[in-house]
Amino acid sequence: MPALGQGTWKMGSNRDARRRERDSLRLGIELGMTLIDTAEMYGNGAAEELVGEAVDGMRDQVFLVSKVLPTNASRQGVRRSCEASLKRLGTDRIDLYLLHWPGSIPLAETIDGFEALRRDSMIRDWGVSNFDLDDMLSLVGLARPGGCLANQVLYNLEHRGAEFDLLRYSHDQGIPLMAYSPVGQGGELLKHPALVELGHRHGRTPAQIALAWTLQHPNVISIPKASLPEHVRENAEALSIRLQDEDIALLDQAFPPPTCKTSLEIL
Ligand code: NAP
Repeated sequence: MPALGQGTWKMGSNRDARRRERDSLRLGIELGMTLIDTAEMYGNGAAEELVGEAVDGMRDQVFLVSKVLPTNASRQGVRRSCEASLKRLGTDRIDLYLLHWPGSIPLAETIDGFEALRRDSMIRDWGVSNFDLDDMLSLVGLARPGGCLANQVLYNLEHRGAEFDLLRYSHDQGIPLMAYSPVGQGGELLKHPALVELGHRHGRTPAQIALAWTLQHPNVISIPKASLPEHVRENAEALSIRLQDEDIALLDQAFPPPTCKTSLEIL
């Protein structure tokens, strides 16, 4: 799996922005951000349709991730949802299919449905999203070894809770953590003086520093969403930034790592 990808939440629904969003995704692929994350939930399928347009003619260069809603995560439900997603994406396989968040349908049933999709080559692998450590512990007891390929969670400088236990556990299990909202949804995080200072130090933008910070963990994949081409270009360059020990120390001071367990936050 590529370490740096592209998110698509809130894309595809606005007719005027559609062409720019599609071109930005294509630009990102050309710049090496070949993992694209989407979901049946995003714009009720509109984001998947946009992704389908964006990867047209480039499908084999792309690692496609989509997600099923917990309410659709029964054995038959995942098949129906997956079929609909494949149609919207204009492809015959999803590379990684995630359960969007833990729901009330027994996990064993969802996993059963995912494994059936795998056998039928509709998905290459499956994983989960918004699973805290206790959710992961129940999952690992139900899945075949190596079955779950990733856990996508909220992880950025402002939300470091996963570092207390989940990040280490995932690393030990060899299950990558996929960091969503890595640039804090483009909000206050990017104005923080520590990020501004490090940006000056490295000749980079605060967003690039925030992304580089997520990518310094070997087991973390980062999926920023950008619909502006200048943001896409910036994000793609984050892979080449090497933060030094003194940079990390400054960030730890500004955004202290967790010292106790907190429940995994969800957006
Ligand atoms: P994000 O990627 O942290 O932030 C996206 C926002 O930041 C957009 O407004 C974007 O602006 C702006 N931005 C991007 N690059 C920038 C840059 N270099 N400089 C300044 N601003 C920049 O937040 P997100 O969209 O919430 O998370 C990323 C992806 O993770 C989502 O799109 C989705 O695929 C996934 N996600 C999953 C879950 C889940 O429950 N599994 C939840 C949330 C998100 P423009 O668009 O204007 O360029």
